[in-house]
Amino acid sequence: MSEPRPGNGTPLLEVRDLVVHHGQLRALDRVSLRVFPGEVYAIIGANGAGKSTLLRTIVGLHRPTEGSVRYDGKDMTRVRPERRATQGIALVPEGRRLFGSLTVEENLQIGATYAGKGPWTIERVYELFGWMKDRRNQRTAQLSGGEQQSVAIGRALVANPRVLLLDELSLGLAPVVVQRIYAMMPQILATGLTVLLVEQDVSQALRVASHLQCLLEGHTTLEGRPSEVTPEQVEAAYFGFGADGDEGPAGPSPEEAGSLWSGSTTSSRAS
Ligand code: ATP
Repeated sequence: MSEPRPGNGTPLLEVRDLVVHHGQLRALDRVSLRVFPGEVYAIIGANGAGKSTLLRTIVGLHRPTEGSVRYDGKDMTRVRPERRATQGIALVPEGRRLFGSLTVEENLQIGATYAGKGPWTIERVYELFGWMKDRRNQRTAQLSGGEQQSVAIGRALVANPRVLLLDELSLGLAPVVVQRIYAMMPQILATGLTVLLVEQDVSQALRVASHLQCLLEGHTTLEGRPSEVTPEQVEAAYFGFGADGDEGPAGPSPEEAGSLWSGSTTSSRAS
């Protein structure tokens, strides 16, 4: 575990020694993290590493077997999901989970139902995503994958969270669409938000993150600032072989290793 990032004060979100089971499966095994105000913290890892389980546990959708979730100095481990949401933790779930038969604006209104005070309104979301206002009466099922992802982000923003959890924004999207969505990040951060994101697209995660952690089969295999870790360390942590090459299974094929950096780990399902 690395030291707190200097100058950032106390963490806004902290996970300590989290253990989460799905039945017999130990999906998270003593995972810890500290996310400081205003930073972008990225969790990377392959399919099944436990990334979604971690985010869903932070918002209260899974109950941990051991460990704790602390937010703004308070223990939230037993707090109900709705209360965590009203206190300022918002999740953009994997696969968007919009109400497809409802319009863009109706989906945004749902996000605003229990909104806290803050800068984000539906109008502000329309300003962020220039195309959205003109299509506010369109059902979200009729939108492209990238447009749906933008509505899902907007729905989370209008709740005026302090911490935004983003679960695999790039999933199923073409790289150019992913880049367009991530290009919004500075504007989102400028309103004072803190971001914890999960990505399989490692290049993308490294581009935006100030801190990263790699999970493999529920374990932390790497943690640090993107500038402090080498591509070799990331590959070793992601695929699960010793950095010196003498532990675990053989390393990735050149194609697998290449896909990690081109973002094509997720683009095979691009829409
Ligand atoms: P992906 O990128 O595929 O979503 P992930 O890193 O987000 O992967 P999780 O979805 O957290 O991983 O899953 C971690 C492990 O827990 C996997 O082995 C998965 O099959 C299992 N799992 C996740 N959710 C459940 C569930 N509700 N019931 C049973 N097993 C689950």
